[in-house]
Amino acid sequence: MTCRLACCPGEYEQRTIVHTVRHEGQIVVIDRVPAEVCSVCGDVLLKPETIRRIEELLKTRGRPAKTAPLYEYV
Ligand SMILES: [Zn+2]
Repeated sequence: MTCRLACCPGEYEQRTIVHTVRHEGQIVVIDRVPAEVCSVCGDVLLKPETIRRIEELLKTRGRPAKTAPLYEYV
């Protein structure tokens, strides 16, 4: 599939990404999320079922598999 950005000639390819969301004031990181990523501009598409799975993870808030260091840029 070609990129949804009109000016971009890229194609989406299946990859796994690190998805970061701010949820109830906390930053939550989800690793190995399947996504379509544009090979040129890096635009990310998530399938509806992937989004549902992420929402489920945020709702159930089980123990995280790992934790990651979090730094403030400024
Ligand atoms: Zn693109």
